[in-house]
Amino acid sequence: MKLLSVASEIFPLIKTGGLADVVGALPLALAKEDVATRTLIPGYPSVMARIGKGKKLHHYDSLFGEAATLISAKVGDLDLIILDCPPFFGRAGGPYDDMAGNGWPDNWRRFAALSRAGADIAAGLLKGWLPDVVHAHDWQAAMTLAYMRFGAAHAVPKVVTIHNLAFQGRFDAAIFDALGLPPEAWGMDGVEYYGGTGFLKAGLVSADAITTVSPTYAQEIRSTADGMGLDGLLVGRGDRLHGILNGIDTAAWTPATDPLLVKSFSSRALSGRSANRRHIERSFGLDKDDSPLFIVVSRLTWQKGMDMLVDALDHLVALGGKLAVLGSGDHPLEGAFLAAAERYRGRVGVHIGYDEPLSHVMQAGGDAILIPSRFEPCGLTQLYALRYGCVPVVARVGGLADTVIDANEAALGAGVATGIQFAPPGPVGLKRAIERAVILYADKPSWASMQRAGMAADFSWNKSAARYAALYKSLMP
Ligand code: ADP
Repeated sequence: MKLLSVASEIFPLIKTGGLADVVGALPLALAKEDVATRTLIPGYPSVMARIGKGKKLHHYDSLFGEAATLISAKVGDLDLIILDCPPFFGRAGGPYDDMAGNGWPDNWRRFAALSRAGADIAAGLLKGWLPDVVHAHDWQAAMTLAYMRFGAAHAVPKVVTIHNLAFQGRFDAAIFDALGLPPEAWGMDGVEYYGGTGFLKAGLVSADAITTVSPTYAQEIRSTADGMGLDGLLVGRGDRLHGILNGIDTAAWTPATDPLLVKSFSSRALSGRSANRRHIERSFGLDKDDSPLFIVVSRLTWQKGMDMLVDALDHLVALGGKLAVLGSGDHPLEGAFLAAAERYRGRVGVHIGYDEPLSHVMQAGGDAILIPSRFEPCGLTQLYALRYGCVPVVARVGGLADTVIDANEAALGAGVATGIQFAPPGPVGLKRAIERAVILYADKPSWASMQRAGMAADFSWNKSAARYAALYKSLMP
């Protein structure tokens, strides 16, 4: 089966979050299911720098007013189609934001262009290659399905995945005329969304199947509380909505072979973790002692509950814990963590920024990772933590609910507990969860049993890739 995947990020070329990890890892897992994936992504500077010359596939004299080229390239095992259009994508800054963190004002045009190219490929633009199924990820690619539905490729099966419903790609109604869709695409059953234009919404109503990244999140987003305005639509299309848990790339994330670690280790020799722990203590300026070392590797945002964590820091320190934070995001939250690091020298350390190698060492040396998210579609950091013997302390929402087994008495007694959950997400629950972690940490045999149970859990892509492949097949004629 030939699959066209359309996305705005792909690891290892460009990554702002879990989306990139999934888009980068899924093709390799799908290959084992006889699905050959080509991934269409924008030609950001970091992408163009990695692909060498590539092979020209098609030239647009004008794609939304700009000249653009489709280039094919291989990076590792990834088969890529790059939309090279410097006026849209050749910019310093992030894929969605400028250097100051403000969204690019022409994001609608940039990602409509990506989607238009995806739909053109689905309609036979490339000589000798036509996809059997098209899979679009998040709002940046979702319009691919609208262009297909209202254009020549309407019969090709269409799948959209929601990686995070909070990001919907909502724009002014006035852009509709510039999108190049027929007039009937406007309206409740098309791209119109609460009086504006909704890119994700357009994908959701155009898709033959909708997936999201965990079973619990697939339920949550059908409720008014978590549906972010789209719950009605998602309830209405509930028979097409599937929750398929994300996997992790075990080639990149295995503690026994991870080249980014200070020292590798396995569940049989957990002592190898201590060299990684010392590295964290040194690089974050933390006291070198045996107290529980909590870590955070996260976007510093409201979604991730980072404001609640700031409020819980006094408590964490009073209980004898220490904390290393790696992340970036909302400036006030970054400032609050930096201030806490000043206040609690030796107990709280903060790195503002993005650091892939350090994130691996933190999972390998931290005792527990804190993930107090208000909502979490799947979450990957708890999966990496489980695999690395770093015990997840999580809010019981979305994918966190589906992947962590709470250390209640029964689970501890049966030796199957892998972490600590609290519900509902909130400051009281978080503080209580930190307390439970500190108490359990003192009980060394129980703690080691949780580490080993987590490390033994299988979060590879195998099962989930088989589910995606089965879904694609079910849509084909
Ligand atoms: P989200 O996609 O909502 O940000 P996920 O948990 O699904 O959350 O994925 C986050 C990904 O980004 C993980 O691979 C995590 O390790 C990585 N990550 C987040 N912040 C940082 C950071 N500051 N430095 C390095 N990696 C980070």
